[in-house]
Amino acid sequence: MVIIQVYITNAYRSYEIADFYRAKGCYVCLGGLHVTSLPEEAALHADSIFLGPGEETFPEFLKDFRNKTPKKRYFSSVRTLEKLPPVRRDLIKREKYMVPNSIVVTRGCPHHCDFCYKDAFFQGGKSFYTQLVDDALSEIDRLPGKHLYFLDDHLLGNQKFATELFDGMRGMNRVFQGASTVDAILRGNLIEKAAEAGLRSVFVGFETFSEENLKQSNKKQNLKKDYELAVQRLHSLGIMINGSFVFGLDEDDQQVFNRTVDWAVKNAITTSTFHVLTPYPGTKLFQDFENQGRILTKNWDLYDTRNVVYQTKNISSEDLKAGYDWAYKEFYSWNNILKASLNHDSVKHQLKHLFYSGGWKKFEPLWNFIIKTEGLNKMLPLLESLLSKVKYEQKKEFSQIKTNSKLIEI
Ligand code: SF4
Repeated sequence: MVIIQVYITNAYRSYEIADFYRAKGCYVCLGGLHVTSLPEEAALHADSIFLGPGEETFPEFLKDFRNKTPKKRYFSSVRTLEKLPPVRRDLIKREKYMVPNSIVVTRGCPHHCDFCYKDAFFQGGKSFYTQLVDDALSEIDRLPGKHLYFLDDHLLGNQKFATELFDGMRGMNRVFQGASTVDAILRGNLIEKAAEAGLRSVFVGFETFSEENLKQSNKKQNLKKDYELAVQRLHSLGIMINGSFVFGLDEDDQQVFNRTVDWAVKNAITTSTFHVLTPYPGTKLFQDFENQGRILTKNWDLYDTRNVVYQTKNISSEDLKAGYDWAYKEFYSWNNILKASLNHDSVKHQLKHLFYSGGWKKFEPLWNFIIKTEGLNKMLPLLESLLSKVKYEQKKEFSQIKTNSKLIEI
C-alpha cells in the first residue's frame, strides 16, 4: 500500500508516483490539502482518496480494507482529537532531523482569511478544535530533549486551552517556537504565559499594512491592530519574530515592497517570509478570481507563492515578481540584517538576531552540506542556545494593554 499526502506544489509528482505504484498493483491512497480541494483530479490517480483530516477516516478505511470493501472516497465528518492513540514517535529517525520534536496540539484556526486553505480543508465540520490539555502535556512529556516546534496554525487561538497548556508547561524546561495572530499577542496576558512556558520565537501573519487589503481578504483579526505594539511586546518578552507578508493584494502598488522591508528592518523582525498572493483552489480567493476571469494558469507547480498566477490589479505581474525577489534579497542583505539586529535594546538580543537571521539565510551551501552529510541533528544544541531566554523588562504600555483588555472582557 502506498499512502501520499498531497500538497499543491508536489501534486504532479505525487500523481506520477501514485500512477507508477498503481501500475505495479499497489493499493494507492491520496489525502491532504490538495486532494480535499480537488477530489476529482486526485481520484484519477488513487484507489481511495481522503477528504479533510484523517484521524477518523483512516482507521475506518483500514477496517474496510481488511474486509476487502474499501471505498473510493472517505470524507471526514467527525472532528475530535480525543481518544487518539499516541503518535508512534519511535518510528521517526530522529538523527535525520534538525527539529525532530515537531508537534501539533490543535487543528485548524478560529479565523477565516480568504486566501487560506483552512476553510477548504475543514469544510463540512468543525474547523478549529484542540487536544485535551492533559493529552497535549503528556505528548510533550514523552518528547526527549528541550526544543519543540509547534506546527499549529494558531497556537494561541483558543485562549482557555492555550492558558492551561502554557501553565502546564511551566517548569518543564522547554524552549519552543509556534505561530500566533497579532490580535492574540495584544490580547490579555496569554503571550506572557507563553513566554514563561518557553516560547522564544513566533510566526506572525502581518500580511499587509493596508486596511482595505485586510477587509478584502477577510483578515478581520488584524484590522485596527497596532502591529508595532505587538512587535514591542514580543521583543520585551525576548521572543524573536518570523513575520509573514503577502504581496499582490488588490490595493498594493509599487511602493509595497520598500514599505514592507523598511518596516521589517526598523522593527527588528528576525526573519521574514514574503509571499506572492496565491489563490489556492478551494479557497474563496480562488473562487472570486475564477469568477472574475483572473486565474491565468492552473499549472499547480507555479502555485508556490513565488510566482504570479493571477491577473494583478495596481501592479503588473512582472513588477510583482521582481518586487518579491527584491524584497527577499534586500531584507536578507548583510546591511539590513545588521541594521535590524541593532534595533533591539539588549546586546544579547542583538547578537541572537544576527546569528539566527544571518545563519539561516546566509550560509545555504553550508546547510546543504550538513543535510547531505546527515549532520542536521548535531545543529540542534546551537538552535537551542539561540532560543535561550533573554532577560526582559515589561514596559508600561503593556500594562495599559492589559487594563484595556480587562475592560473589554468586563
Ligand atoms: S489566521 Fe492564518 S491560519 Fe487562520 S485562517 Fe487566517 S491565514 Fe489561515
